[in-house]
Amino acid sequence: MPIHLDHNATTPLRPEVREVLLEQWDAGLGNPSSVHGAGRRARAVVDEARERVAAALGVDEGEVVFTSGGTESDNLAILGGHGALSGRGEPARVVSSRLEHPAVVEPVRRLGAAGARVEWVGNDAVGRIDPAEVAHAAGDGAVLVSLMAANNEIGSTNDLGAVRAALGRREGLLLHTDAVQALGRLPISDILAHVDLASLSLHKVGGPLGVGILLRRAGARVAPRTFGGSQEAELRPGTENAAAIAAAAVAVELAVQETEAFAARSRALLADFWRDLVAVLPDVHLNGPRLDDAARLPNTLNVSFVGRGDARMLVTRLDLAGLEVSAGSACASGSLEPSHVLAALGIAQERALSGVRISLGRGTTAAELSTAVDILRRTLGGTT
Ligand code: PLP
Repeated sequence: MPIHLDHNATTPLRPEVREVLLEQWDAGLGNPSSVHGAGRRARAVVDEARERVAAALGVDEGEVVFTSGGTESDNLAILGGHGALSGRGEPARVVSSRLEHPAVVEPVRRLGAAGARVEWVGNDAVGRIDPAEVAHAAGDGAVLVSLMAANNEIGSTNDLGAVRAALGRREGLLLHTDAVQALGRLPISDILAHVDLASLSLHKVGGPLGVGILLRRAGARVAPRTFGGSQEAELRPGTENAAAIAAAAVAVELAVQETEAFAARSRALLADFWRDLVAVLPDVHLNGPRLDDAARLPNTLNVSFVGRGDARMLVTRLDLAGLEVSAGSACASGSLEPSHVLAALGIAQERALSGVRISLGRGTTAAELSTAVDILRRTLGGTT
């Protein structure tokens, strides 16, 4: 079996979640909108899942909108938040950062192309953003600020409490966060306390693929982007996947319960891994926050191996050697482009092109990480 160190991409289904998924799948649930018994049973399953998610996250049931995943939640928050708040007068102002996931960057860009005034706030060399700069960019006219809780590529985090303090609270301004990588890895209620909208994705924490959540705090106005049904407070019309939603609720509960233990364990494992990696490949570069920086994801490491080829090639070679990691770079129009996140850090092109992401999961062991160091040493030709 290969060693899988790409848990920021997706995670294996947890057995507790699988059990609920299969049980509900086989339970003959109907359409939750149907009035007959099978429909009512499905409705009860969705209602119970919503209650459990709300309790686990410390929010109100009415604040939980089930979606198909992080991408849909981000799009709904951004396009729907802007749609609800932009008037007919001046172009609405939207603030975000170049470190965001494409599920945020792309809808924000589209708003810009359609006439919104988009402000991209800057960041420092390890991905930190200055809350005062966010407030300055928002001025007193922004309708939406979208800043991720934790970055999927380099593990940097945003202090949303400080962002909120700098922005203040006012009618007509929404603070959205993509918290997809934060759930189960950082204390989620500390994040949710400061925002109006938050996106979550359950396949990142051992839940089923195809279920996400948009948390819409009471009073936050979001306009629907899809139409044709009244499900999920008319924000996400379409027949609910009751079995997957029930399973996802279990994943949320477990992720929240285990956050502290997972973070402590991952932090320790990652520190040892980095120490061992530097010992065999001394010219490795760390991209993003230092490992002893408290404001970072505990499970994510982004490293560059300069002079040993581009990341796509490195990832393929490592895959053949039995180690699954991911590359930030992508081939665009025939030429290799560095990851937009590494490019935004301002690091040299060759280093950005060789950036590789390593992300730990709940099943990752010290033995796997020590084999991973060995594979990296053998594949990339370090010292012995
Ligand atoms: N946002 C972040 C930060 C992510 O890491 C991802 C997934 O990689 C997404 C959004 C998209 O989530 P999903 O795969 O559920 O659409």
